[in-house]
Amino acid sequence: MKILALLAIFFVSIHAEMARFDNYRVYSVKIENTEQYDAMKYLEEHSDSYNFWKYPKMNAQIDIVVPPHKFSEFEEITLNLKMQSELIIENLQSVMDQQKPRNKQPKAIGDIDWDDYYRLEDIYAWLDNLVEKYPGILKLETIGASSEGRPIKMITLSKKPGNRAILIEGTIHAREWISAATATYILNELLTSTDSNVTDIANNIDWHIIPVVNPDGYEYTWTTNRNWRKTRSAVSMLCFGVDGNRNFKFNWLTADETGNIGGSRVPCTDTYAGAYPYSEPETQATESFFEANAKKIDAFLALHSYGHLFLHPWGHTNVPPSAVEELGNVGRAAAEAISQVNGTQYIVGSSNQVLYASTGTSRDHTHGAHEIPISFTVEMRGNGDYGNFGFMLPARFIKPNVEEVLAGFIALIHEARNYGRFPIN
Ligand SMILES: [Zn+2]
Repeated sequence: MKILALLAIFFVSIHAEMARFDNYRVYSVKIENTEQYDAMKYLEEHSDSYNFWKYPKMNAQIDIVVPPHKFSEFEEITLNLKMQSELIIENLQSVMDQQKPRNKQPKAIGDIDWDDYYRLEDIYAWLDNLVEKYPGILKLETIGASSEGRPIKMITLSKKPGNRAILIEGTIHAREWISAATATYILNELLTSTDSNVTDIANNIDWHIIPVVNPDGYEYTWTTNRNWRKTRSAVSMLCFGVDGNRNFKFNWLTADETGNIGGSRVPCTDTYAGAYPYSEPETQATESFFEANAKKIDAFLALHSYGHLFLHPWGHTNVPPSAVEELGNVGRAAAEAISQVNGTQYIVGSSNQVLYASTGTSRDHTHGAHEIPISFTVEMRGNGDYGNFGFMLPARFIKPNVEEVLAGFIALIHEARNYGRFPIN
């Protein structure tokens, strides 16, 4: 009996412990030849020590988390391969610790703002409060449940019938906290702003907003591992989680022209695409919503970090989509408007060309399978002139991030109207 009690305490204590990253470094390295590429790809798929914040691509800069016991090995690898490498974070734990310096607790549950990041329960309670406050224009739905049983909530803002719609997908990747903060900020502005640019898009467009598509992963980043990306389903004897943004059906695990497959079949990797499309209840839930509502939707915007990028289809091929002119123009309009707010420079282009190969993403699936005309992955702040933080963007940068992104979305909508999208009815 005593032993059982001790065991119980032991198990409770391992579950309660938060992973630490003391003295872990983040390096940014440049991949300039196939030897370097192959080596980085091998590390990404086979090492459980290194963690990739950006995935290998030829002629690109990628960021890698290196634990202290691998410093000398990593130095040897980069020296042998003659790779340019730059130390961008010296101590990952201290960056994590400084992300929420005030460690603000909401005054009441659901009393959130954009000076800090908030737990799932606060975001959900905030949505509940809003629906009470704006019953005529808001509708809160649970579109599904995560593998651990948490509700996946979507809020819809609609001020009049007949509007075309936008869908905002937030936090499919758990550690990208700025995603949930941006989704909630946009909703709040749509409800409260008196700026005519904002009232226009609030009145004349229906907004479907899912602040946290991956609630299990998001919760896990607060309780257990701040660096977690995937869902939390059990996928093998050793590993948990599927990359939700590799789990949609459109061109799932298709190789691009260079033979690169933008997703992994290895369960323990961060880009594991799942055993089959929609293996995850989280992607099933969003797919059911797309199936029922895609015809009313003119734009799908997936909020991610980081990199200052507006990425349109495709991820699985470097051949541009047939709508490339419209996509390029609306993306460039957004980037131009963003740069006017704080000077942040976004790059616009096809995901495969600008970032790296990716397959089974919600962006490509909504555009390719559901024919939503405008689909983007928006990679927001992380590393820039303001400092290097990766996914652990300090809370003081939430405001500049959300303000510039909203300006970008307004410009995107204005430009899209030139293509007949979002007509005012
Ligand atoms: Zn992401």
